[in-house]
Amino acid sequence: MTTGIDAWWLLLPLAFFALGWFAARIDIRYVLREARSLPAQYFRGLNYLLRQEQDKAVESFVDISRRDPHALDLQLALGSLFRQQGKIAEATRIHRSMVDRHDVPKEKRELAQFELAQDYHAAGLFDRAEAVYESLRGTAYEAEAEAKLASVLEQEKEWAKAVRARERVERLTGAPQGAILANYRCEEAEAALLRGDRAAMETALAQALSHNRNSGRVRLLRLRAAVKAQDWATAEAALLDLERVQPELIVLVADEMETLYSALGQPGRWLDQLSAVQSETRSSLGLTRLIDASLKVEGRAAALERLKRALADQPSAREAARWLELEAELHGEPAAKTMREVANLLRRATDRTPGFHCRNCGFQAPRYYWKCPGCNQWDRFTTTPLS
Ligand SMILES: [Zn+2]
Repeated sequence: MTTGIDAWWLLLPLAFFALGWFAARIDIRYVLREARSLPAQYFRGLNYLLRQEQDKAVESFVDISRRDPHALDLQLALGSLFRQQGKIAEATRIHRSMVDRHDVPKEKRELAQFELAQDYHAAGLFDRAEAVYESLRGTAYEAEAEAKLASVLEQEKEWAKAVRARERVERLTGAPQGAILANYRCEEAEAALLRGDRAAMETALAQALSHNRNSGRVRLLRLRAAVKAQDWATAEAALLDLERVQPELIVLVADEMETLYSALGQPGRWLDQLSAVQSETRSSLGLTRLIDASLKVEGRAAALERLKRALADQPSAREAARWLELEAELHGEPAAKTMREVANLLRRATDRTPGFHCRNCGFQAPRYYWKCPGCNQWDRFTTTPLS
């Protein structure tokens, strides 16, 4: 009997071990099943994606996100990845399926809505993008959505609506938008100038100045309009004002300056002003404009002297080519031929330096842009230094 009881006690640890083993087995099985079920769905979804079966892939991811609330983030990440890769249809499908679901928490649904608006925007569906951005007012994404709405309206050239959107951005974020608002009004002024409506242009320019009183663009437009109307007094005032606020823009109005000072019978002042601005800005295009003017006003010998002085002060391969071209006209063959050939080589070597570049992203262009085509920022273009 005693032996039996002893034996029973001996069996006890074994029984506990067996129970623990079973418990552990059940736990492990449960954990494995849970761990396996989601990855299997993920992989199924990814497989559909790789096989270009987008609808089934989205269905599969929606199924995952129903079982696991964290998978909503996976869908959002996937959607924005698609958009970045230019796969707008896929991104739209994912985001729209999230917006349409009522079991998605409000915050995630609003984020999906914000993403959906960006999909429409990227696809060029501006009306839809506009409507969805507007529907985000009062949500956590309001400020960001308003800024994006403004950029949609910029693309549509809906300047009056863009002004209202920018003003809301300023109110919501506190970040000053004056420089951009002035550009919107200048766009309106330019359109008015094209229509020949000088009164509407002046109204828009006054509004632009109220946003940014140092806007060079306002002076430039006023100068162009005045030259067109042969209003020489206004034109000269606008020109002097432009030199004061943004001298680097003078290279854009060399033709208007020529017309103005020819009309006033003072071509020398055209030259003096270009020269004064060039000594301040030292741009490549500025020197080109100055020598162009000098050739017309003073003649070849004086222009050549001016060019040599400028090059001694600041070497420039581009303008050295011009020197050789001018010099070639003073020499007989074969020296002139050699000079022209060297000038050609120099021109080809410097052709890669267009007149303007963006201070923000480095985008280069032979013409001036108020809004950089590379980074979409306003007022970032400037004249490229001598090279
Ligand atoms: Zn840029």
